[in-house]
Amino acid sequence: MADKLAIIGAGPAGLTAALYAGRAFLEPLVFVGPSFGGQIATTTEVENFPGFPNGLQGPELTALMREQAEKFGARMVEETIEKVDFSRRPFRLWSSSREYEVEAVIVATGATPRKLGIPGEEEFIGRGVSYCATCDGFFFRDKEIMVVGGGDSAFQEGLFLTKFGRRVRIVHRRDEFRAGAVLQQRAMQNPKIEFIKSAVVERIIGNGKVSEVVLKSTKTGETWTEPVDGFFVFIGHEPNTQMFKGQLAMDDDGYLIVDKRLHTSVPGVFAAGEVHDNWFKQAITSAGFGCMAAMEAEKFLAALESERTGAAAR
Ligand code: NAP
Repeated sequence: MADKLAIIGAGPAGLTAALYAGRAFLEPLVFVGPSFGGQIATTTEVENFPGFPNGLQGPELTALMREQAEKFGARMVEETIEKVDFSRRPFRLWSSSREYEVEAVIVATGATPRKLGIPGEEEFIGRGVSYCATCDGFFFRDKEIMVVGGGDSAFQEGLFLTKFGRRVRIVHRRDEFRAGAVLQQRAMQNPKIEFIKSAVVERIIGNGKVSEVVLKSTKTGETWTEPVDGFFVFIGHEPNTQMFKGQLAMDDDGYLIVDKRLHTSVPGVFAAGEVHDNWFKQAITSAGFGCMAAMEAEKFLAALESERTGAAAR
């Protein structure tokens, strides 16, 4: 027999959906995927999740969310869904080890960090190039760190990286930053942070590990090199929707298209979090979307159930 509900992804959206679905006795299967906790689990201090006035670490927050969802019957499955068939119900999902059948699905696969796509980037991943300050900052104690990006992530992670590096330079392609005022102010006041504005990184150079980068002015076209040991990229995200191509409607950037109650183009499949939200992108908004998707999935399953019992009685 098919399970009632699968939740694909275990970031704030998936885990909140799991909590609500668990409390509605849906015993959801939560496919944890390649990285439990999603992006927030690679974040350092989370200061803007209500209820935690002293802040807490990203992994700590997701561990608490997991504990709370499990308490109400959510079943965590340490597998990654690799393929889906939403063409008929029950829907079918495949991990590398087995096939699952479910009546409804909440897609909460989130988004992954965008890459610059410049020469040297792929080659030096794990050897100086990184997308996660929490994971890799420690390797650059007293070293030259460069951060690319002008948004909240670049500033927040840049500030965190000052714990390690002897200097952190933030490179941004424009001369105005997108980051919020508080983070900008903190970074400007930090003596270890320097800014290189109106510049892009053209290539990363090294021998076995990163040693320097070539920069280009977006104003004059002039190029020059700077020494770098740790090169961190924080330039936004790509939605994790590859697996749903041809099955769920998505926009030109690959974000799932949903209605205001988070229904996707397939009845019974809902979406929650950064997989459809390219605007707010906060842990708290993703959690809110997870709650909404679970409430809608519950309504969908209840309607299905009454249709079936009605049909059986006739
Ligand atoms: P973001 O806000 O989309 O900013 C991306 C930055 O990267 C922008 O400054 C952008 O430049 C730059 N960029 C994009 N593509 C680039 C490229 N190919 N080369 C060079 N630079 C490039 O992404 P984010 O900083 O990851 O933040 C994502 C969301 O999470 C936001 O909503 C943010 O508010 C939220 N967030 C919040 C906090 C917090 O509240 N503490 C912390 C982290 C993230 P342009 O400005 O020129 O477009």
